[in-house]
Amino acid sequence: MEKRAELYAGKAKSVFLTDDPDYLVLQFRNDTSAFDGEKVEQLDRKGMVNNKFNAFIMQTLQAAGIPTHFERLLGDDEALVKRMAMIPVECVVRNIAAGSIVRRLGVQDGMDLNPPTFEFFLKNDALHDPMVNDYHIRTFGWASDEDVAQMKALTFRVNEVLKKLFDDAGMLLVDYKLEFGRFHGQVILGDEFSPDGCRLWDKQTRNKLDKDRFRQGLGGVVEAYEEVASRLGIKLD
Ligand code: UDP
Repeated sequence: MEKRAELYAGKAKSVFLTDDPDYLVLQFRNDTSAFDGEKVEQLDRKGMVNNKFNAFIMQTLQAAGIPTHFERLLGDDEALVKRMAMIPVECVVRNIAAGSIVRRLGVQDGMDLNPPTFEFFLKNDALHDPMVNDYHIRTFGWASDEDVAQMKALTFRVNEVLKKLFDDAGMLLVDYKLEFGRFHGQVILGDEFSPDGCRLWDKQTRNKLDKDRFRQGLGGVVEAYEEVASRLGIKLD
């Protein structure tokens, strides 16, 4: 597989074409951003840690029967993925209240959410990723009803697999964001799963082990990600 020109540079990852139109190279950079790109810093080792973390999670999900775009690791900060047509919405499931749901609904930070909630957000930094519902998605043609049903079903299946994975390693999966796309007509999981896009708390202390450390200026961001990786048995070096 030959890496070709850069197709797109996002806030934390860059995407490159390959000699095969069905595949892309995903490069995980050290850039770390928050607040719709208003706060940006370079964090040493983060690209490598997230690339390997993501590979482990995607392979775990794939093994559990959840289709993903992940093919294989190519190096420390690169992976080969299927080229999908992305659906421009983010799917968020919450097991515990934190972040925007606390701000929007005034609910208690840290309360258990039973059953877990599901939310769609439009991917649009300029509009600050507004919350949207199934009707917006259908009316504006972002995805079909079948795609919406599939995204919801897959996002909840991910919850079953990953809640247990993190729980067994002494962590609470508080919430997470997933993005999907279409590949030869099938809706599959794309983007990444890493501590940049989920909240993970230590089960005993409820210490934050995710990007909230960066958002809230708590320090020790990559160290926390490495701690999570180590608890899951992910080899980084
Ligand atoms: N999230 C993300 N990208 C976004 C917005 C949210 O990865 O553009 C993740 C975030 O890390 C958290 C979950 O989605 O795990 C829910 O985020 P929330 O709506 O609480 O927003 P936030 O408080 O992060 O602004």
